[in-house]
Amino acid sequence: MRALILRRVGLIEGGAAGSVLVGRPGEGLLVVIEGLLTRNGYPFTFLDASKDEEGRAVVQRLGVLSDDLPLLICPTGTILKRPTTAEVATCLGMLPRLDPERVYDVAVVGAGPSGLATAVYAASEGLSVLVLDQRAIGGQAGASARIENYLGFPTGISGQALAGRAYNQAQKFGAELAIPLEVKRLDCEKDGVEPWRLALSNDTTVQARTVVIATGARYRRPHVANLATFEGSDVAYWASPIEARLCTGQDVALVGGGNSAGQAIAFLAPKVKRLHLIVRASGLEASMSRYLIDRIGSLPNVEMHTRTEVVALEGDTGHGLRGVVCRRLDEGRSVTLPVHHLFLFIGADPNTEWLDGCVDSDAHGFVVTGQQGGPDRPVVLPLETSRPGVFAIGDVRAGSTKRVAAAVGEGAAVVSQIHTYLARTAT
Ligand SMILES: Cc1cc2nc3c(=O)[nH]c(=O)nc-3n(C[C@H](O)[C@H](O)[C@H](O)COP(=O)(O)OP(=O)(O)OC[C@H]3O[C@@H](n4cnc5c(N)ncnc54)[C@H](O)[C@@H]3O)c2cc1C
Repeated sequence: MRALILRRVGLIEGGAAGSVLVGRPGEGLLVVIEGLLTRNGYPFTFLDASKDEEGRAVVQRLGVLSDDLPLLICPTGTILKRPTTAEVATCLGMLPRLDPERVYDVAVVGAGPSGLATAVYAASEGLSVLVLDQRAIGGQAGASARIENYLGFPTGISGQALAGRAYNQAQKFGAELAIPLEVKRLDCEKDGVEPWRLALSNDTTVQARTVVIATGARYRRPHVANLATFEGSDVAYWASPIEARLCTGQDVALVGGGNSAGQAIAFLAPKVKRLHLIVRASGLEASMSRYLIDRIGSLPNVEMHTRTEVVALEGDTGHGLRGVVCRRLDEGRSVTLPVHHLFLFIGADPNTEWLDGCVDSDAHGFVVTGQQGGPDRPVVLPLETSRPGVFAIGDVRAGSTKRVAAAVGEGAAVVSQIHTYLARTAT
């Protein structure tokens, strides 16, 4: 396993192995395919069809028209012209053909930290497991350049490295993974009679005795074009001692008027020189608890910018964030705050559209678990939803701690509850 991982890392870092991707830099579909390969840890060689001699030679030799680019030459020798992500994944073996008649013990929807943890623990305990993800392994954590608060990695680990290891570990124990494949619907019309059926984006279905909802959440992001350039470095969605250390003694900006923003301000302000608080509303009263408002009021270095929104970010990958451009909503004019760190606390939305009301959720759409049922269902397991045998873990679950370690913990914990459920319903 160690040799496999090190060899794979070597191939990725070397940048001249695996599949060959030929195209024009910056072209939309090329960027999508590069993203798929990179996020899922597949080594590839890129050849620029317009500048590289080798790239031009490949295009000429294969008689490829410019409209056929990008081109993927799979390790098997198969050549794909302007492939869809599903075609690329199938060619690389990431997207196996799934048998619609087979009934898995567990279908896990989402291959973020929580879903991958379930795959590892369930497969290692002998359950048949299928994991489906619409995009890539690692989920939100896959976007993190350095996770410093995950147990056992004192110098930090990138989300992709963590996910790549979990992916190998899950496969070692026999879990099947199908990526990218979106789950469109959970068929709950049968009202609690397993197997559960999941409708997939390739118009097929899969069946499982239990389903684990691990589809996570999306942090709300302001509509700023180059936001992704600074995410994971100068733009953060939480404030831990690590972020605080990075901006100690500096000016920072923080967007948000809810309680999570309030708690972050109370934590950060004593450490930074000045904290610019940006809110769209005319005050905090409608969205934040009184004690936090009072606390913020007593912090001399918090400067409030009400009726203000972030419209642009200045800086680049090399130099990092240089400034946050804000618009004063009432005056229509823009101001630039010269800060190197921006904190965003504008909430998160759960990825639950595909559930279409199949399971109970809270007022914000997060899936509720462990609610005690009526006389027909007296015992509901702690991570079980309003549907028997359907569980929810990680960020998508109401009341969960939105952290990698918590997601992994729930991913492990749900497996013993799946055993309990399967034993109870065994005929
Ligand atoms: C930029 C960034 C950095 C972070 N850094 C840290 C950190 O340093 N430390 C920390 O503790 N936490 C960090 N977090 C938070 C942490 O990443 C999350 O708490 C954690 O990833 C939640 O895991 P999850 O498995 O519950 O969900 P997610 O990671 O959100 O994964 C959900 C997965 O489900 C998939 N999915 C969604 N809908 C469907 C569908 N219909 N069909 C198929 N698949 C679907 C998605 O593609 C995704 O891969 C960070 C978050 C972000 C955004």
